[in-house]
Amino acid sequence: MNNNCINTQLSPVQSIKGVGPKKTVKLQRMGMFNIEDVLYSFPREYEDRRNVKYIAQLTNDEQVLICAKVLAISKSKYVKNRKQMLRVLVEDKTGKLEIVFFNASYYYKAFTIDKKYYFYGRVSISFDRKQMIHPDFSEVNDEDIKAIMPIYPLTEGISQNERRRIQKNALHYIDCIDEYLPDEILKRNRLCGIKYALKEIHFPQSFDAVKVAKFRLIFEELLILQTGLLMIKNRLQKDLKGIVFSKEIPVDKFIEQLPFTLTNAQKRAIDEIINDMESPKVMNRLIQGDVGSGKTVVAAAAVYKSVLSSYQAVVMAPTEILAQQHFKTFKKFFNAFEIKIEFLSGSTSKKYREEILAGLESGDINVLIGTHAVIQDNVKFFKLGLVITDEQHRFGVNQRAALSDKGIRPDILVMTATPIPRTLALILYGDLDISIIDEMPAGRKKIKTLCLDMQNRIQAYELIKQEISKGRQAYIVAPLIEDSENLNTRSVESLFEELESFFSGYKIAILHGNLKQTEKDEIMGKFINGEISVLISTVVIEVGIDVPNATVMVIENCERFGLAQLHQLRGRVGRGQEQSYCILINGSDNEISQRRAQIMEETDNGFLIAEEDLKIRGPGEFFGTRQHGIPEMKIANLFKHIKILSQVQKEAEIILNSDPLLEKKDNNKFKLKILSLFNDMENLNL
Ligand code: ADP
Ligand code: MG
Repeated sequence: MNNNCINTQLSPVQSIKGVGPKKTVKLQRMGMFNIEDVLYSFPREYEDRRNVKYIAQLTNDEQVLICAKVLAISKSKYVKNRKQMLRVLVEDKTGKLEIVFFNASYYYKAFTIDKKYYFYGRVSISFDRKQMIHPDFSEVNDEDIKAIMPIYPLTEGISQNERRRIQKNALHYIDCIDEYLPDEILKRNRLCGIKYALKEIHFPQSFDAVKVAKFRLIFEELLILQTGLLMIKNRLQKDLKGIVFSKEIPVDKFIEQLPFTLTNAQKRAIDEIINDMESPKVMNRLIQGDVGSGKTVVAAAAVYKSVLSSYQAVVMAPTEILAQQHFKTFKKFFNAFEIKIEFLSGSTSKKYREEILAGLESGDINVLIGTHAVIQDNVKFFKLGLVITDEQHRFGVNQRAALSDKGIRPDILVMTATPIPRTLALILYGDLDISIIDEMPAGRKKIKTLCLDMQNRIQAYELIKQEISKGRQAYIVAPLIEDSENLNTRSVESLFEELESFFSGYKIAILHGNLKQTEKDEIMGKFINGEISVLISTVVIEVGIDVPNATVMVIENCERFGLAQLHQLRGRVGRGQEQSYCILINGSDNEISQRRAQIMEETDNGFLIAEEDLKIRGPGEFFGTRQHGIPEMKIANLFKHIKILSQVQKEAEIILNSDPLLEKKDNNKFKLKILSLFNDMENLNL
């Protein structure tokens, strides 16, 4: 390390040459407080300015560097919106070009007639007149411009050139940055050193150098994050002694009496859960499985184990309909056993509620299933051993915590039908262990998926007619409840009007979020019982509903739904023995919606679909990573850099296996980096 070195993390941006009080405020607005922040604020892209082009070669709209002599400068008084305009006529040996600056009398003095300058900018050509508006420029002796130039995101009040100067000056402190990744990691993953990476990411010698630098910086950022998350998880598991469920109570009896044979994936998940339950650590496990993969029975096995070990269990679902359905399913699963199950939701009557609360407190009731109502303060358990939440993305971490506070460190199981690649899950659910059910029960017929355009919609309804005449049922999903004037989109109400006579002789009904809870429940109940043949609905039916007799899902204006959502909706059919169908009606001819429909036709693998969804929509919409408490990334992108991420995950495991708390001297600086990334996360008490 250099002798007169400073700590770049502690030195404020003012220490950088050229940064006064005004610039300081602006840099701070962009999140840069110290020198290290500046060094770690990366260009958004680069411009290749190494090749000078001749004016005669220029084509319209290209971004180029030229070298030309100034012939004349003129200020024009006022153009349209009263902006002052400066024209600079320049020439090289092949032709002439006009440079234009608006509102920029400052530039007037910047040029000297007969002198040569470099200009970098976009060319516009009309009627043989070549122009460049507001180019970057520099004098010819200044070699700076003939390089790969970084382009930074800007804030008002700092120009690109100023920003570059600041970055360059910050790089004067590069020798004060110490390598913090252990040598071993650098070697194993062929990473360049940090000094090289920071120099080249800002002012690269070549695009190859940019690649090398980027790889190192992305790797480093992901490694710090993943290692930190793994350490949190390890710590949680080590410290919190939970319930040790007895090995003497196997779940075999439960499994043997099921009306079907479990898939291997289900068996594996159950083994993992039972293992956790029998160990002293508190279980924090996520069951991830595609729609219809049979997560519920896996959860039921855990409940069985808990109850037979004389602990209570609670299952929380995000909606009344789903909770009701779970209640029914669990009752069926446990029919042959003496297990007392009750249901609690906002609509439970006061009298009944009091009975339930008493039964829970006395231990009379073994299993409680319900909505958010189960986390209310007055719900007290005698001896709670297992907490299950369904459809994780609807519950916050806090709600999960509130539920587990109702016992003394009960085991926790989370079920989600949002399939995301394992690599991503390891980050997004960093604090959970993961079981993946990646196999469908045998004998399921693949759902036939077909995309129609608006003109051919009638085919969808014909198909429904054909199916309901055989006693099957159908869903029609539309984006809106009622028609909206300015949207060319189908609504539940107008569809009902249109189709009522088409399906005459059959019972059809509508379901949407504006109905009262009791109305919704009644309609859903009738659909489940088979009294309703066609249910026209908004996406309220999206999650979890299980009606095996339903064989057609028609989705109107499918372009208005995300891929993952379409997949969820489609998962409402294909749950029984019969052939099922999903018809997507595409109301748009844009390319993305065509592509989506095509993906849906081609694959039924939720993990693949989720990946495609991410590619099309980008991560922000898929789910905000921030709500998961993950620090913001500077250069890495969890979705774009998934390959690097999986390499990083192997590395994080290797490091922590040999040094779980990063106590070795070689890992010292790396550990400090992790601490500084997580410094505002309360539970990183490493
Ligand atoms: P999801 O994973 O979407 O929550 P469910 O648990 O609702 O799926 O299961 C979907 C349907 O498949 C249910 O009707 C369930 O009884 C049935 N099922 C679950 N496991 C199996 C299996 N191994 N073989 C046959 N049917 C199964
Ligand atoms: Mg489910």
